[in-house]
Amino acid sequence: MKKYWNEKFETMPVEQLQEFQAQKLRETVAWLYERVPFYKQKLDEKGVKPEDIRTLDDIRHLPFTVKNDLRDNYPFGLCAVPMKDLVRVHASSGTTGKPITGPYTAEDKAQWQECMARTLWAQGVRPDDICQNAYGMGLFTGGLGFYLGVEAIGSCLVPTGSGMTERQIMLMQDFGSTVLFCTPTYALTIAEKADQMGVDLRKLPLRVGSFGAEPWTVEMRKEIEERMGITAHEAYGLTEMMGPGVGFSCEAYRLHLNEDHVYPEIVDPTTLEPVPLGEKGELVFTALQRRAMPLLRYRTRDITSLRRVECDCGRTLVVMDKILGRSDDMLIISGVNVFPSQVESVIMEFEEMEPLYQIRVFKKGHLDGMKVEAEAKPAVYAQGKEALEELARRISARIHAVIGIHAPVEIVPQGSIARSEGKAKRVIDERKK
Ligand code: ADP
Ligand code: ZN
Repeated sequence: MKKYWNEKFETMPVEQLQEFQAQKLRETVAWLYERVPFYKQKLDEKGVKPEDIRTLDDIRHLPFTVKNDLRDNYPFGLCAVPMKDLVRVHASSGTTGKPITGPYTAEDKAQWQECMARTLWAQGVRPDDICQNAYGMGLFTGGLGFYLGVEAIGSCLVPTGSGMTERQIMLMQDFGSTVLFCTPTYALTIAEKADQMGVDLRKLPLRVGSFGAEPWTVEMRKEIEERMGITAHEAYGLTEMMGPGVGFSCEAYRLHLNEDHVYPEIVDPTTLEPVPLGEKGELVFTALQRRAMPLLRYRTRDITSLRRVECDCGRTLVVMDKILGRSDDMLIISGVNVFPSQVESVIMEFEEMEPLYQIRVFKKGHLDGMKVEAEAKPAVYAQGKEALEELARRISARIHAVIGIHAPVEIVPQGSIARSEGKAKRVIDERKK
């Protein structure tokens, strides 16, 4: 069977790929200039004409797009095609205010399917697999995005959607699901529930997971792999670009971006200047082939870095490091920037601990304070108050050593931390009350 879903684009020599990107960039800018008043005005303000964009370097002359631009133009103000040309509209959760829309033409949907097929194929999904899709099915791009990939490959889809965890486990046993799609924190919720039900997931046919939609650490990946007896892969994406399918991990656990569809940049979030390969900054994407709502230099707020590596898998597609978190989730504690994922890494170093934690942020005089609440394994919790306090102190000292902040840790009783069925909420901000 073929190794790559799309060998041509997944292994294209970088120079040739960049020529392709430059061509698609020119087409996209021209497409938007003629059809979307928002972009025409932005380009006119900068004195940039579509024909000024010739090389990939010229991208620096293009304006950025931010989340608020999408909100201000809700629902279809940035759409480059009439409604009659749309075949699908998704939307992101939009916890604050109006959601962000993701409209697709038939062509956009076909490209999304292509990107999802590349993702699943790279992760070992084949026509004879039974794929249990426990991502939310609905406006959220996760569920229907993975569905497209499964359809392209021709495996069997079991669209359970998220939640009803006992039933997920029952179906997994009865149907013999071999592949699971959901968020990493929901995978853990499933693993915990299976333990409680006395079901050993490692003995089931389940062998691969494709997890994403929220930050997770390498330590978390290993925990899931061990508890489920699977290979845990990763998918990355966002509604604004297409949904899942923007990036996928390969057999070497490196996350490659489908950069013939999305052109990535990393910029310094304050100066907005591009940073060199390998350095951390804010991830910015330009859609290269979309028709309905291609965005120019969209600021994702995700913090990460990019690398050109010769990957063992043979793909030439650029590699993205793990997302540290969204800039919105960054906490500033006594002047030190902290992401929840850093706290997760430390907690997961302790084998006494469960991967269940939350961070409370509060006002401490004029400064911000932070406290970590986390659950220990039941046998450890049973050791009693003194042992738990000693364990908490050790974790706290380790947080200080690794992250550089003072944060007390409390080991809370089992069940205290809310179990996630989708994107976990890691931070409880008491400053906003
Ligand atoms: P919302 O903004 O409502 O969460 P989306 O579902 O579009 O809507 O979320 C996209 C965001 O989810 C990304 O910008 C990123 O912050 C996060 N995300 C998605 N996949 C991953 C992943 N594999 N690792 C880390 N974060 C991810
Ligand atoms: Zn690879």
